Amino acid sequence: MMVDADMSQGRCLCGSIKWSFSERPQAAYHCHCSMCRKAHGAAFATYYLVAKRDFYWESEINTLQEYQSTPEFIRSFCADCGSIVPNDGENDEIIYVPAGSHDDGPQVQAHIFTASKASWHEITDGLTQYEAYMPDENSRVYPDKALSQRLIGIVRGSCLCNTVQFHVTEPFRIVHNCHCSRCRRARAAAFTTNGFTTTQGVVFIKGEASIRFYKLPEAKYFAHAFCEHCGSGVPRKDPVRGIAVIPLGALDDDPGVGAADHIFVDHKAKWYTITDDLPAFAQMPD
Ligand SMILES: [Zn+2]
Ligand SMILES: [Zn+2]
Ligand SMILES: [Zn+2]
Repeated sequence: MMVDADMSQGRCLCGSIKWSFSERPQAAYHCHCSMCRKAHGAAFATYYLVAKRDFYWESEINTLQEYQSTPEFIRSFCADCGSIVPNDGENDEIIYVPAGSHDDGPQVQAHIFTASKASWHEITDGLTQYEAYMPDENSRVYPDKALSQRLIGIVRGSCLCNTVQFHVTEPFRIVHNCHCSRCRRARAAAFTTNGFTTTQGVVFIKGEASIRFYKLPEAKYFAHAFCEHCGSGVPRKDPVRGIAVIPLGALDDDPGVGAADHIFVDHKAKWYTITDDLPAFAQMPD
């Protein structure tokens, strides 16, 4: 696995939390479990498993907030901007570093939890696939529910801690896989998969008051919405443009449609290779 001893730098969207590690992770995988999909609001999460002796915080971590997603696993996010950040939880030896926050980073070796993969996402690369953990990772597997059948006219969704629940009541106008650096850092994922409706197309059933927003100071439109308890990416309404942006990773029902294309591939993470046949646009298509 070891390539060289270069340092790879990562940071959250707002820059409060920064870190680095020497590029010899013990494993690097894409995880398709529903918890990763919800926490990151993405088709899958990508993690480097880094020995703690190879990992360095490069900033204060005052804004780091923890959410215990299983008895063994703590997930961490920046309370200011909602980016998922490395978790320094229970495990004494390994730190789980989200690759999406790294422009440069080691290559990935496998897919895990493919048994729980989102039905709207297809794996098209040749990496090894494991139905649950990699054989040498000795963790307890929790039952993972598959996406449910959608109700007539409604696709249900929720955050990882279930505080925020919503219904999507309109068909998506379009679904993009976005590779821009803002999306990658906000979700700490290889790319985001977002569906778009009008602002009326998302109805919050529960927990709307727990949604926090981070607006990037220099951005015209870009903002990130997340659950203040678990850090999961959740839908965001933009009344100025009259749209709602829905992270497909947050869905509990199969929307029956996946991404139509890849956008902003000029800004793609260098460690990620697109292997499907979807149209790929350097920036935003007209
Ligand atoms: Zn931050
Ligand atoms: Zn996972
Ligand atoms: Zn939550």
